[in-house]
Amino acid sequence: MENIEQNVKNLLSTIPEYNPFGEKITLVAAVKTQTAEDINRAVAAGITDIGDNHVQEFRDKYGEITPQARRHFIGRLQTNKIKYLLGKCDLFHSVDRFSLATELSERSLNAGVTSEVLLQINIGREQSKSGFDPDCCEQAYAQVAKLPALRIRGLMAMLPLTEDERALICLAQQMRKKYDTLRAYAPEINCLSMGMSGDYRICIEAGSNMIRLGTAIFGNRKQNA
Ligand SMILES: *Cc1c(COP(=O)(O)O)cnc(C)c1O
Repeated sequence: MENIEQNVKNLLSTIPEYNPFGEKITLVAAVKTQTAEDINRAVAAGITDIGDNHVQEFRDKYGEITPQARRHFIGRLQTNKIKYLLGKCDLFHSVDRFSLATELSERSLNAGVTSEVLLQINIGREQSKSGFDPDCCEQAYAQVAKLPALRIRGLMAMLPLTEDERALICLAQQMRKKYDTLRAYAPEINCLSMGMSGDYRICIEAGSNMIRLGTAIFGNRKQNA
């Protein structure tokens, strides 16, 4: 059995508290395929923020997870599933297209809530990933910022799966530059969500202040999960 408690303690003691820009780093546990019991073990061991990929899993486990944990949604979101997350999700990481932002704002408005969001940027320009074009961060921000019921908190990115460390460092630094450029005229944003189990050290070094870790906490997932 995976030693979740030990993994969490090791991570919390080895991940620096602040990135090189002096910003506090938030560790979000990526919990896809994990049981509510294991998620609660991670929370008891010190995890404060948890992130789901699948709406169905979020719904199934919602009531079973320690309520003080902050809830994030980090997966691709279909507009017809928004209703299940409204008012329950503290931060939507994966607003990857304008149509999703529009729908999320409309439904948030109708529900009387404000939804906090990150704009997902397809920094590696990968076919397999969604997100706004890296050259259009500012336009995306300007468009989404006009929507009444959303509050933009920052940017999110997933780096490509590659062993090429220099390429990863370069992309992570590009993301940080985009974040800083945006922050120059949107000083309220404060999240750069970037970094998974395989690349979080590189991402923190480049200036990420929010990392999303699954396998580093829970061990390997089942295949195809
Ligand atoms: C699964 C997932 C993670 C965590 O991945 P690990 O490699 O297990 O750390 C982070 N972000 C997103 C969007 C994910 O889907």
